[in-house]
Amino acid sequence: MPDLDERDVDAVVVGAGFAGMYSHHRLRRLGLTIQGFEAADDVGGTWWWNRYPGARCDVESMDYSYSFSPDLEQEWEWTERYATQPEILRYVDHVASRFDLRRDVEFSTRVTAAAWDEGSNRWLVKTDRGHRVRAQFLIMAVGCLSAAKLPELAGIERFAGDMYHTGRWPHEGVDFTGRSVGVIGTGSSGIQSIPIIAEQAAHLTVFQRTPNFSVPAKNAPLDPTFVEGRKASYRQHRKMMFSSRAGIVIRANDQPALSVTEEERHKRYWEAWEAGNLFGMASSFGDIAIDRQANETAAEFVRERIRSIVDDPDVAEALSPRSYPFATKRLCLDSNYYATFNRDNVVLVDVRADPIVEVTSHGLRTAAADFEFDALVFATGFDAMTGPFLEPDIRGAAGRSLRDKWAAGPRSYLGVATAGFPNLFTITGPGSPSVLTNMLVSIEQHVDWVTDCIDNMRSNGAIAIDPEVEAEDFWVSHVNDVAHLTLFPQADSWYMGANVPGKPRVFMPYLGGFALYREICDGVASDGYRGFALTLAD
Ligand code: NAP
Repeated sequence: MPDLDERDVDAVVVGAGFAGMYSHHRLRRLGLTIQGFEAADDVGGTWWWNRYPGARCDVESMDYSYSFSPDLEQEWEWTERYATQPEILRYVDHVASRFDLRRDVEFSTRVTAAAWDEGSNRWLVKTDRGHRVRAQFLIMAVGCLSAAKLPELAGIERFAGDMYHTGRWPHEGVDFTGRSVGVIGTGSSGIQSIPIIAEQAAHLTVFQRTPNFSVPAKNAPLDPTFVEGRKASYRQHRKMMFSSRAGIVIRANDQPALSVTEEERHKRYWEAWEAGNLFGMASSFGDIAIDRQANETAAEFVRERIRSIVDDPDVAEALSPRSYPFATKRLCLDSNYYATFNRDNVVLVDVRADPIVEVTSHGLRTAAADFEFDALVFATGFDAMTGPFLEPDIRGAAGRSLRDKWAAGPRSYLGVATAGFPNLFTITGPGSPSVLTNMLVSIEQHVDWVTDCIDNMRSNGAIAIDPEVEAEDFWVSHVNDVAHLTLFPQADSWYMGANVPGKPRVFMPYLGGFALYREICDGVASDGYRGFALTLAD
């Protein structure tokens, strides 16, 4: 790649998923020269990697799509209420071609290091394929759930059968027909893939560490009349999405759960359950996220549903979450998950009661039994939110490493920048609402804010921008304070870093709600980038 050696561009964009692609679109329109890098062979980010059976988005397709182009939203036809991974990838491919977004991206290339040079006010970015690129701005559009994580299990390298991670699924697909399969993990990826694998495999054993709350997706082909209506009012609908708490339009009820009769509560939960929506149950009452007693009413409703679906009472109880409040771990959206445990070829192993001791050459050994498998599927999740930012060795002013700075938990101002790392922007980074919202809305808001910021800098002769330490300290404690007003920190979730041994326990996303967050970001910008230090050109 000699042509890329020591190239000098205005911006390097890392990642070519939804966030990276939109960054290219916006920055290019500003007239910036851009170099993109993407580890995958093509665009798509999470949807390029997560090709496991049953992978589909848990936000409705007509909402989980770009809003920046009214023409695009009119011309694209989604076929199902919740889009499958292949359909989302077709959409991504269409957008990339329509807006020529691959042009500046070097694929199959991982950024390994980036260092800020104070003398020239530029980043020097290096890749695993030997690129060295200088850039004024470094846009980290690396996703929140892209660093796939295998569990720390003894003997994992010994297994002689086929091993898969849901987040790194083979592109040619996997046929489990007639095979004996073990799935480890019952988060969103496990819950989506288990029903499909169960239909194919001769025998499926599910290893569950913590049961999850899951609500039915009620997925269906999209009704043409609904699509027509939505397209006619798309602009207005998008406005409502961008003024909402989670980037989707939902009718929330502010009443306390215990202020209504049990019958009324049950009716509301039932309606939310039947509506097939990730955010519906938690929005049924105003205090579900903050009051344990109120929360318990929602939790018990789901447990009741599990008992009514699952035939064996012991299995139903093992599938019923009791150790953390409802919706404080990411809620799952499923198609036939609980009913899958009524199948003769499916067995649930509760690894809290019967811990996994080791992986063997032929399967898994727990304290109580030896299991033989042809294939093992790890649906064990990700080093979420911070993992993708810390994978490359990023060094800011005075050579300080981001890994050191975030050793006790991520520190950012507004989740979009971090002090001591000038001109580095973290799209949907820790400290922003990101994973608690419809990601497309959060991505567009961040990229728009960053692009406007760069535009403003250029108009005003600023060459570098860096959060002030006091502003960052305030934001970090605000994010923490808001989280601790809720029940969320009571769960051992990936929001808290609890799924990665040794990772600091810090609630990473901002829980203040998307609309309020957007207002704060806009206020900071209109106050001349309050809380940021700007360096002017000589
Ligand atoms: P996850 O939610 O972190 O689930 C990982 C599962 O693996 C958990 O059940 C975890 O148990 C288990 N596990 C991890 N290490 C283990 C070990 N050593 N032994 C036994 N079990 C172990 O990961 P995910 O399912 O991939 O989902 C991550 C996030 O991606 C979701 O929360 C969601 O935000 C997103 N996602 C979305 C969709 C969608 O749009 N429909 C689909 C997939 C993923 P513990 O709970 O005890 O840690």
